[in-house]
Amino acid sequence: MFALMQSTRGEALHLAVDAATGLRAVIAIHNSDRGPALGGCRYLAYPDDESALADAIRLARGMSYKAALAGLPLGGGKAVIIRSAHVADRAALFEAFGRFVDSLDGRYITAIESGTSPADMDCIAQTTRHVTSTTASGDPSLHTALGVFAGIRATAMARLGSDNLEGLRIAVQGLGSVGFALAEHLHAAGAELLVSDVDAGKVRLAMEQMGAHPVASEALLATPCDIFAPCATGSVLTSQSVAQLRCAAVAGAANTQLSNLQVADQLESRGILYAPDYVINAGGLIHVALTHAGEPLTAITSHLANIAKRLTEIFGHAQAEKRSPAAVAEMLAERLIYGR
Ligand code: NAD
Repeated sequence: MFALMQSTRGEALHLAVDAATGLRAVIAIHNSDRGPALGGCRYLAYPDDESALADAIRLARGMSYKAALAGLPLGGGKAVIIRSAHVADRAALFEAFGRFVDSLDGRYITAIESGTSPADMDCIAQTTRHVTSTTASGDPSLHTALGVFAGIRATAMARLGSDNLEGLRIAVQGLGSVGFALAEHLHAAGAELLVSDVDAGKVRLAMEQMGAHPVASEALLATPCDIFAPCATGSVLTSQSVAQLRCAAVAGAANTQLSNLQVADQLESRGILYAPDYVINAGGLIHVALTHAGEPLTAITSHLANIAKRLTEIFGHAQAEKRSPAAVAEMLAERLIYGR
């Protein structure tokens, strides 16, 4: 673990156990130079404890990069509660986790992530104030969708010479909280939608409400379109899948879309413009951070405009320096975090 902390330049790793509730949790703080470390809390089962710790450490680093590029005065952190087969009292478990968060005196602020819900955050809020995305604070997914929509327009501008989406064929993979709301924005902007979801009910709704064309999940990557918007699972861009793509750009909400950085070069060599995921999907983080700071909705909406600006800056650098947007995003984030 020390080697992973060193290679990711992590700052601290905190562990907690609570016999009464069965809590086994880790909080990884990647960097707090720009402000407190904000990042979600995963509640998942892991094959072993090392995998849970490694997940928290890697994800915390991603949060530092995302916050820095979104122009937020925050560092990056992430928590994992290791899910066991049986939990007697879920509310008590999350209250115990809240006490763990509180013991760090605001150096880490938690939020929803895979496996946790706003109701869990409400339980955490019983024992600490360093928590966001409670039921009272609203759904961050809608802000993620708004940010991705603005990012798709910036991507279209950079790759196709216009941010007018009317008549563009846009393939949305995954019609969940973010994907469905994104599809609605794209439909309102006049885009032709190709959609896939493993949940047939969501696809049917998109067909009825937006005239979307259904495509089987496994066929979507190879379907000709202008922009492919991954909004389902991670690691969707592998050397094999990128070879199949028939689009001008990839711009979507999913986290960790690239299976590795070489894939970013492969996208470049195929002439496919890639909008780095942690830049384009920062709308939810902007929402939770500013809501937590007590900012009004107008401030959140105007801060979302940073996403398109930052992407345009990244695309400009990438073109001038003949590097992939993913490599440029990483370089800019490190400059903001480490001041070099
Ligand atoms: P979600 O769980 O609400 O939706 C995911 C959707 O993808 C579901 O409808 C699911 O049925 C579908 N799906 C799963 N596998 C699929 C496949 N192989 N092909 C097609 N569809 C498939 O999740 P979400 O909150 O909408 O998030 C979507 C992605 O965006 C995730 O990768 C998430 O990590 C990322 N993200 C979300 C937010 C946010 O605010 N919710 C913020 C940043 C990043």
